[in-house]
Amino acid sequence: MSTTSSLKPSATNPATRPEMTASLIANVDSKAEQIWHLLKDACEALPRISFANSFSAEDMVLTDIILRKALPISLFSLDTGRLPVETYDLMARVEAHYQTKLTLYFPQHISVEDYVKTHGINAFYDSIDLRKACCFMRKVEPLQRALAGQDAWVTGMRAAQASTRASLPVREYDEGNKLEKFNPLSDWTEQEVWAYVHKHTVPYNQLHEQFYPSIGCAPCTRPIAMGEDVRAGRWWWEDPLNKECGLHVNK
Ligand code: SF4
Repeated sequence: MSTTSSLKPSATNPATRPEMTASLIANVDSKAEQIWHLLKDACEALPRISFANSFSAEDMVLTDIILRKALPISLFSLDTGRLPVETYDLMARVEAHYQTKLTLYFPQHISVEDYVKTHGINAFYDSIDLRKACCFMRKVEPLQRALAGQDAWVTGMRAAQASTRASLPVREYDEGNKLEKFNPLSDWTEQEVWAYVHKHTVPYNQLHEQFYPSIGCAPCTRPIAMGEDVRAGRWWWEDPLNKECGLHVNK
């Protein structure tokens, strides 16, 4: 199984630069206003709400709405220890742009040390079980700690991102984590996300311009070809119907 991409980006990904027509901007303004109302109402009904910011373009839209509107929603992020350098660069730019300090959750060091010693530094390529075990210790367990005691959480998922998200509701009950879950960008298109980003000069990950529409850990993410599913570059060696990291599986 190849663990590197043969795609050498030579131009800026045009998907990140939609034509900023008046109708597109008006549509995005209207949808952003709806999100603000949705989250404001949610904050009035549920006192403890967190937003899990993965620094995707979608999550940067929500970060911008939450911080600019001063919504009482706490932001946190998961640092798996295997993120691309461009994501750490974005973290620093987010702190400077919004004059804030990020709250990061890291994996339990004992778990990582045991996993690496037992299976190897890149064992997630060896089997789906080892990949899921890595995602559990680096993402799912830290997420569970971050969500402990919360009434609800917010994500930047969109229905159009993957077949696993096709029927994504704006609000659902997260059975796995036992709390409410809001997916305010569920019906947004990729074009609308980028229109918002550029209209509001929102900082974003430079990898998006190099054909990485979906960015996770460095060893498990690669650029995609034009026309490919936006999640095709994540765990590309696995069945597309089943590849999620475990953060968004309701059971
Ligand atoms: S995306 Fe890859 S490196 Fe990151 S936690 Fe999952 S398996 Fe591990």
